[in-house]
Amino acid sequence: MIEISHVSKRFVSDVQTVEALRDVSLTIEKGQIWGIIGFSGAGKSTLLRMVNALEVPDQGYVKLDGRKLSDYTEGELRGGRKRIGMIFQQFNLLESRTVYENIAIPLRLNHTPAEQIAARVEELLAFVELEGKKDAYPWQLSGGQKQRVGIARALATNPEILLCDEATSALDPDTTESILQLLAQINQQLGITIILVTHQIQVVQRICNRVAVMENGQIVEQGAVLDVFGNPQRPITQRFVRTVIPDVLPESLVADLQQEERAYKLLKLRFQGNVAKENILYNINRRIPVESSVLFAAVTELQHVVLGIFIVKFIGSEKSLAAATEYLDSHEVAWQEVAV
Ligand code: ADP
Repeated sequence: MIEISHVSKRFVSDVQTVEALRDVSLTIEKGQIWGIIGFSGAGKSTLLRMVNALEVPDQGYVKLDGRKLSDYTEGELRGGRKRIGMIFQQFNLLESRTVYENIAIPLRLNHTPAEQIAARVEELLAFVELEGKKDAYPWQLSGGQKQRVGIARALATNPEILLCDEATSALDPDTTESILQLLAQINQQLGITIILVTHQIQVVQRICNRVAVMENGQIVEQGAVLDVFGNPQRPITQRFVRTVIPDVLPESLVADLQQEERAYKLLKLRFQGNVAKENILYNINRRIPVESSVLFAAVTELQHVVLGIFIVKFIGSEKSLAAATEYLDSHEVAWQEVAV
């Protein structure tokens, strides 16, 4: 659906030349949720803006449904049924307009008849659960509510693709979670493809099924989230993975595991240096109900951090195991049961 092919972009000023993107290629299929992760300055926003035709590549091209963006007219991209919606870290709402008016903007730009605008805005307000706020001004809303308005506005024209530029970076963890849930719902219920730029691995793990890791204008690793974070090849990916350990595993479980020499040694032996092949189950405790009777184990090594979450039939309950394996199978993740 979106093909980014050998794209390079350079920003030249009197002071310096920045190679914001260097030979970046990425193919995004319809219905996927991609996370583009990297530290500040890696080129993530430039890449996202390029997908939205807000930047033009110096080399390479971006194709939407097999046709180069450069061959689309402005009207095709922005007028009519706008195919790409975008949301932002700072929400980008018009402060002097009400929630209703903010959401109606793209519809007015489209010359949508007034009665259709009203119906569509009501529908969107219900979808983002802001029915009671339609006459409020942005300054009367919380950060999470503002982002919901941003999302409703981005969805107003029924786009097929939603681009999210650090959409949760200005929000606290609970609000982040509720916005990510909403994005997942948008993907599942409306079938909208999502590309999400972030510097937070937790965001990628929470809702993305694919990830591209960016560094110095290049994509240095890409693939299924479970594979990339389960077996990080590049130092930068390993750095991201390392930051997540306390977050992924409850403290108590880490402590249990550290005490559990037998499990630790066995897992370490079994998976060391051969992580991908053994199909590490990554961050699975976030996605399926974890019951205490299923033990998720992690292996942490000093040099090469491997965070693997394995289903260990330790004090195994069949029910939890069934839930876990069903999840894995439905996501086409090969897995291995480790009896300790
Ligand atoms: P990220 O989103 O990963 O933080 P960006 O894509 O915003 O990275 O920026 C990548 C690099 O390109 C940075 O060094 C940034 O300063 C530079 N850059 C981005 N946009 C422009 C611009 N319009 N003019 C000059 N330099 C830019």
